[in-house]
Amino acid sequence: MQHPDFLHETATLTAQQPLTSGYVLLTLHAPRIAKQARPGQFIHARIPGLESCALRRPFSIHDTEGETLSIIYKRVGRGTEQLATLAPNTKLDLIGPLGNGFPLPRDGATPVLVVGGYGVAPLHFFARRLATTGHLFIGGRTSSDILCVDVFQKLGWTVHITTEDASLGTRGRVTDALLPWLAQHNAPVEIFACGPDGMLRALSQLDVPTWISLDKHMVCGVGACLACIQKIKQPDGSVAQLRVCHDGPIFEARSVVW
Ligand SMILES: Cc1cc2nc3c(=O)[nH]c(=O)nc-3n(C[C@H](O)[C@H](O)[C@H](O)COP(=O)(O)OP(=O)(O)OC[C@H]3O[C@@H](n4cnc5c(N)ncnc54)[C@H](O)[C@@H]3O)c2cc1C
Repeated sequence: MQHPDFLHETATLTAQQPLTSGYVLLTLHAPRIAKQARPGQFIHARIPGLESCALRRPFSIHDTEGETLSIIYKRVGRGTEQLATLAPNTKLDLIGPLGNGFPLPRDGATPVLVVGGYGVAPLHFFARRLATTGHLFIGGRTSSDILCVDVFQKLGWTVHITTEDASLGTRGRVTDALLPWLAQHNAPVEIFACGPDGMLRALSQLDVPTWISLDKHMVCGVGACLACIQKIKQPDGSVAQLRVCHDGPIFEARSVVW
């Protein structure tokens, strides 16, 4: 998990494709960042139309293809609502690719991806780049929170879907499907996860090697301002104050002090 230097690039918006309600797939022409990006990394975007002092917004990289990169965003507030109004050819000021990215699965371990909501974005990129396949556990409140399943299936992943209202897959939370499966699966597994804090916390209780992507409010995105500090247990038992933007966003789940 090395940190290549990040880039500052003016990207051009090429398309905005609404997915299910509230989620949008946004594609950008950003040749330099697209070339360097690795799964689990993110971009920090200045959103045109917000006042000039407004903070950048971080988004995981969902995919890269040649000179383009894509993100999936959920409309939750001022910045993402403004992002949704932008038309093709709008210029966006980006820094990236930022963060450490996911490590490769250990030899012999079946990769298990655990996803909630827009957490699918970095794990879609991860699955597209991995030479192996495994199991995807994807959950949401309702069917419109379940994204990109067809891509994972085409890649050969076994997909397990849960929704809290039973509108797709089995009723319950993603851990309701994962835990029984883990109990019956005797071979080694390694979990890679991105989603809401509650889900990540539950995963950090498991006795399974697990990597989680933390979604923490951040300001500078490059490790300078200390706005996104997270306490992380060190191998010697001490607790370090690490920066999610620079030292993460991916951490070994059991090391996180919640
Ligand atoms: C490393 C990283 C990767 C991310 N990847 C994605 C992604 O792929 N797709 C996506 O849709 N979003 C992603 N996010 C979250 C995204 O940055 C926020 O949703 C966005 O900044 C909200 O901006 P806003 O102005 O629309 O909302 P605001 O008006 O700022 O806030 C609206 C609501 O969202 C909450 N919120 C804002 N920022 C965050 C945050 N970072 N984490 C949790 N809650 C937040 C606020 O508390 C508030 O309740 C990521 C965040 C991080 C740190």
